[in-house]
Amino acid sequence: SVVITGATGQLGRLVVEDLLVGGLPADQITATGRDTAKLADLSARGVSTARADFEDPASLKAAFRGADILLLVSSSEVGKRVDQHRNAVEAAEDAGVGHIVYTSVLGATESSLVLAPEHKATEEIILASGLTHTLLRNGWYSENYEQQLHQARETGTLLTSAGAGRVASASRPDYAAAAAAVLRDPAAHADAVYELSGDTAWTFDELAAAMAQALGREVALTNVTPEEHEAVLTGAGLDEGTARFVVGLDTGTREGELSSTTGELSRLIGRPTTPLVETLTTLV
Ligand code: NDP
Repeated sequence: SVVITGATGQLGRLVVEDLLVGGLPADQITATGRDTAKLADLSARGVSTARADFEDPASLKAAFRGADILLLVSSSEVGKRVDQHRNAVEAAEDAGVGHIVYTSVLGATESSLVLAPEHKATEEIILASGLTHTLLRNGWYSENYEQQLHQARETGTLLTSAGAGRVASASRPDYAAAAAAVLRDPAAHADAVYELSGDTAWTFDELAAAMAQALGREVALTNVTPEEHEAVLTGAGLDEGTARFVVGLDTGTREGELSSTTGELSRLIGRPTTPLVETLTTLV
């Protein structure tokens, strides 16, 4: 059976749905999160649910017991993730889970992206555990631009300091489908490392055009320096740490850290990845 962390979140929820649609019996799935009330509808459909908090090792061990394979959806608590993920890996070993699937980040070991160090450290913990593993190095979600899309609807502009950097984004359901494909046939993906990204690497000019198409209004791209970008964000009320983090993501983007098109995602899911404009349209 399969146990999934982060099932109260968007990606984990989509993986559970994908497994159910694909015909995995509900009683073979354990969906976990901090707040099991968010899983009540899944429970009503026969899915097992359990509380699992990365900060509470006992909860992880209890939730993972009896499972053959764990999908560790990386925590959303940036900055705390190495300890949290270590707790999850240790709990998996303790509970006798044989195979761990982890949602990492594109190019984890080499990437200069601000998010990469926690993923790299987690991968090292998983490798050191000796458990069978599958590393899903997820690229960028197209949905990450939702806020900018709403801003573009209001202002008609898209602001970036990513310059000519390209992003090979795919939709969250695409990445969920890849995780589900691995969970359905674990043996075929034992000790595999996948660099997952969208089929097309677009520029921010193309993002602005895709937003314009989705919104049905003109969207102009404003390219600024990182310093200007940070000033605009703090001017709009963001605290300095958050502003720096957001600008840091654009810096990584400018440096091409999100641009590689490996085709591994479309190969895993057996179809092309979802076009950017299609995802933006669902967000309007
Ligand atoms: P969500 O924010 O929707 O979900 C995050 C999940 O992590 C939630 O289920 C949340 O539980 C859970 N979580 C957070 N802290 C803990 C904890 N202490 N113990 C147990 N569970 C915890 O994110 P997504 O589903 O969209 O994305 C999944 C992950 O992918 C993110 O957590 C992040 O690591 C990464 N990500 C990647 C992006 C990319 O572009 N590649 C973009 C955004 C995120 P709860 O419901 O209790 O909060």
